[in-house]
Amino acid sequence: MGSSATESYDSIGFIGLGAMGFPMAKHLANKLPSETPIYVFDVAKEAMDNFCAEFPKKIVKCGSAREVAQQTEIILSMVPEGAHVRSVYLDEKNGVCSTDISNKLLIDCSTIDTATSLLVKDHIAKNFPSASFYDAPVSGGVVGAVKGTIAFFLGCSKTDPSLPRLTQLLENMGSQVIPCGGPSLGLAAKLSNNYLSGVIAIACSEAMDMGMRAGLDPITLAKVYAAGTAQNTVCDRFNPVPGVHPEAPSTNGYKNGFKVQLMRKDFGLAVDMAKRVGAKNVLGQVGLETYTAASNDPRCRDLDSRVVYRYLGGKEEWKVDDSVE
Ligand code: NAD
Repeated sequence: MGSSATESYDSIGFIGLGAMGFPMAKHLANKLPSETPIYVFDVAKEAMDNFCAEFPKKIVKCGSAREVAQQTEIILSMVPEGAHVRSVYLDEKNGVCSTDISNKLLIDCSTIDTATSLLVKDHIAKNFPSASFYDAPVSGGVVGAVKGTIAFFLGCSKTDPSLPRLTQLLENMGSQVIPCGGPSLGLAAKLSNNYLSGVIAIACSEAMDMGMRAGLDPITLAKVYAAGTAQNTVCDRFNPVPGVHPEAPSTNGYKNGFKVQLMRKDFGLAVDMAKRVGAKNVLGQVGLETYTAASNDPRCRDLDSRVVYRYLGGKEEWKVDDSVE
């Protein structure tokens, strides 16, 4: 991981202290010098109180995103959806842009639609030309955020003069920063990645299920895929069949993974993006229907997205009756 906290910051702002934002902000609090305050805001007061309790001397609680923007030159945000990002930046009374943000650096790490991100970027470019706004969604999940190993997909070009500064800042929270080309392209990269990962999880679940029903044991099947042309990370490390990979969420009751509702959200955003850019997308609709139904299924809701295997009727207790050892 990058050990790059060489640039000093007078202060940092962080908006959105949820499952991802909390551990990301925690890395900043741990790595930046003790004299660097972190101004935080979350609509959930409890989230701010919990964060403040861990770093009472460093954290300053704010009453709005606007207040964060008034206090600091660099602001990160990590909120759920486009509507929240619009509220954080564009709310006329309490948003970041309701105060003078000239020369400030703004980085939104939320996974949202590219249109909202561009709307915020254009608003800032028009009203505060010296300020910079970047999309920087992340991959790696809550576990990666806690370990500091997430990857940032940054909506900026390789020649952007701010890239070294951005990289240095983001490497405090993750292990990779990939400049994706320009505004909103970090999001486009993230959405196409999650589309692919979501399709693979459905395909892997179906392939495992049909192989097992034909008489194969799932560990042998996973070995076959790994040696053959079907090799992929979902099968290798996040296998949807419980008991195939000891550390996969499926083996732990599909807990502590990437929630199926978040996969549904990202998959829907990817399908919308495909439509908007005119990309033919034959698996999109069926994938979206599958993740929507799995999200609404009480046996699957709130569990890791690879629980789609359960939704499709895959056998989970295979070890008990079917072990070939
Ligand atoms: P979360 O719901 O746990 O946290 C979001 C936080 O934002 C909450 O504390 C909420 O109170 C706060 N919030 C909402 N609206 C706000 C506003 N207007 N102003 C200030 N705070 C506000 O969500 P999360 O899991 O941390 O996800 C955040 C983003 O990261 C999402 O876009 C998600 O898709 C993306 N993401 C999540 C994961 C994951 O595994 N959880 C992985 C990669 C990316």
